[in-house]
Amino acid sequence: MEIVHLGSGSSGNSTLIRTEETSILIDCGFSMRQLERRMSLVNMTPEKLDAILVTHHHGDHGRSAKAAAKRWGVEIHANMETCERLSLDPVNECRIFENLERRDLGPDLSFLPIPVPHDDADNVAYVLSSPEGRAGFVTDLGEPTEELVKHLTGCSHLSVEANYDTKRLFGNPRYPQPLKDRIHGRGGHLSNKQTATMLNRLVHDKLDSIVLCHLSSDNNAPHLAESEVLCEIGEKFEGVIHISRQEGPEFAQWLGERAAEPLRWS
Ligand SMILES: [Zn+2]
Ligand SMILES: [Zn+2]
Repeated sequence: MEIVHLGSGSSGNSTLIRTEETSILIDCGFSMRQLERRMSLVNMTPEKLDAILVTHHHGDHGRSAKAAAKRWGVEIHANMETCERLSLDPVNECRIFENLERRDLGPDLSFLPIPVPHDDADNVAYVLSSPEGRAGFVTDLGEPTEELVKHLTGCSHLSVEANYDTKRLFGNPRYPQPLKDRIHGRGGHLSNKQTATMLNRLVHDKLDSIVLCHLSSDNNAPHLAESEVLCEIGEKFEGVIHISRQEGPEFAQWLGERAAEPLRWS
């Protein structure tokens, strides 16, 4: 399983996953032009996509779902609320799933959607399974639930949001207090500290790679996110940590490998 973050942050998110038989995107929160451009950098075209999994309807995740269904004819998978709020036709444009319902996407790839708390959205995390192992993709949640941790346990790759540094968020003079409270609250985003604490519960011998994503450009910085996580898990984690930024793709990660391959143009 190859994992390529095409870009991640509040302006857009999309991750390309390729196995031998199956190619999908998780989220399509960039313009169609940007998605096509970013995919082309890794020799991917929309025609080769088997599916797009959408986590939730917020623009930075679902912006191009409707256009992709129409123009590329690609199958969108989402739960009912996300489908409705993206104005997708639940018969012709979207395959509705129930949260916690496992579904096959191809002969060598299946997914499990796990509900996570996020304001005004029925957001899900995804665990993808292939014959080589499992990978978890988690963004946009105010706190990790026990159910989520249970399903992420044993994954050999984790892409997890590290949205904000608490000190930077609360010290940011440009953010009004209610907005700070919302981001920090149960329906907001994970802080670096929350991400580090969750990862601490998920480190095991076969956790080979972690990608920190959806970093706030206003309230976080790559070195803060990485150092907070390393401070928590550094002694026991033997894999690699990378950061996915807004301008991707920068690297390709292979499930089960402890090194990522830098992409030529980045
Ligand atoms: Zn969101
Ligand atoms: Zn988001």
